Amino acid sequence: MSIDFAFPPEVEDIRLRVREFLDEEVRPAESESLWEGENRRNLIEVILKLRDKAQKKGLWLPHMPPEWGGMGLGPTALAAVSSECARTRLGSFILNCQAPDEGNMHTLLHFGTDEQKEKYLKPLCKGFQRSCFAMTEPEVAGSDPTLIQTLAVKDGDDWVINGHKWFISGARGANFAILIARTNPDAEIPQERNTAFIVDTNSEGWNVVRDVETMAGSHNHCEIRIENLRVPDSNILGRVGGGHELGQVRLGPARLAHCMRWIGQIEMALEMMIDRAQNRFSHGSLLSEKQGIQWLIADSGMELYAAKLMVLHAAFRIENKLDFKTEVSYAKHHVAQTLWKVCDRAVQVHGALGYSTDSPISGMLLQARWARFADGADEIHQMRIAQQLMRSYSETGSVRRATGDLPL
Ligand SMILES: Cc1cc2nc3c(=O)[nH]c(=O)nc-3n(C[C@H](O)[C@H](O)[C@H](O)COP(=O)(O)OP(=O)(O)OC[C@H]3O[C@@H](n4cnc5c(N)ncnc54)[C@H](O)[C@@H]3O)c2cc1C
Repeated sequence: MSIDFAFPPEVEDIRLRVREFLDEEVRPAESESLWEGENRRNLIEVILKLRDKAQKKGLWLPHMPPEWGGMGLGPTALAAVSSECARTRLGSFILNCQAPDEGNMHTLLHFGTDEQKEKYLKPLCKGFQRSCFAMTEPEVAGSDPTLIQTLAVKDGDDWVINGHKWFISGARGANFAILIARTNPDAEIPQERNTAFIVDTNSEGWNVVRDVETMAGSHNHCEIRIENLRVPDSNILGRVGGGHELGQVRLGPARLAHCMRWIGQIEMALEMMIDRAQNRFSHGSLLSEKQGIQWLIADSGMELYAAKLMVLHAAFRIENKLDFKTEVSYAKHHVAQTLWKVCDRAVQVHGALGYSTDSPISGMLLQARWARFADGADEIHQMRIAQQLMRSYSETGSVRRATGDLPL
């Protein structure tokens, strides 16, 4: 039998070292007040000190190869590290594997020229710079990037770009953006219309309008106006007309990286739910002794278990260079739904405390909501899964190929 659900000892060792570092160094340094007003200056100092400690312990850039200063973990080992990191607020930042930089590093590694890697990837890996990824526009459906209106027009050796983006995570403070713009409006294949550009955010014409206020507060998801921004030819990332392909290469593993972090959040929410249920007494017994509450706990456990298997299997397929798109769609849909449902149940079991900001679960619930539509809405993944199921049935007489291609 070749099925083995255990991590090799060296990966388990890394997971335990990450957990210990987060427990001993990161969690104690995180206090609510760090995020408030003037204290934010201290937050940066705290991050820098912790990053220094992480680097000294060799817990830095888990997703990058050693030649870029990273730990060289493959997607399955990364799942272990990322889900541990997500059990703290700062964990991913401290190990320098936070979104969107993590996805941008992969993209630059895959598509960047040597000069682009030296100028943009190197400082990201060293933790000296931050970046953002600018694709979504308020005027057209973000779910369909072939509709992008931001236009780049060739002018000598430069491109002149005009457009409007929003919800660009981490834009304030980012040194550069990977920007998706339309360069070939008349391309016969809609997927050939867009190109990726690397834009220095201090360029004239890159204007951060505002930090979009969300139901979970302000978290540096910015609206950007791009006005007559000049970008040299040498800042094209990949090929002209290759923006869609680049987005797909970036988004598959980046979606799964989100799922890995959400697993950590789901685990925390379920643990909080159980802890509350085991300590709250009502109508003659603890909440944990009531069947209605046990069902909430059991449903959450079943969904989390399936989420872990889906994430590990999709990661395994990426690692082994097998087609992974459908498996990532299954995982993205299921894990996002599970995150939302388990946080909601945890709020329910906590009652008024869960609704208050005295408990972190209220904030976790609000953050969980975007998981179901960002990086591919639930319905888009359902559409892709249904297409693959029907194709598999038509071509092979069975749905097996589109249900993980597992030996069952
Ligand atoms: C917290 C957060 C961070 C983000 N960070 C970034 C970022 O860094 N960079 C960036 O470029 N973007 C970012 N986004 C934007 C995100 O990628 C988009 O919200 C997402 O792609 C969906 O696009 P949209 O919001 O325009 O929704 P729309 O495309 O308008 O879709 C709205 C809804 O319509 C339905 N729908 C759409 N298409 C279909 C279909 N074909 N079939 C059935 N139903 C459909 C779905 O229910 C969907 O939720 C972020 C968003 C959030 C909330």
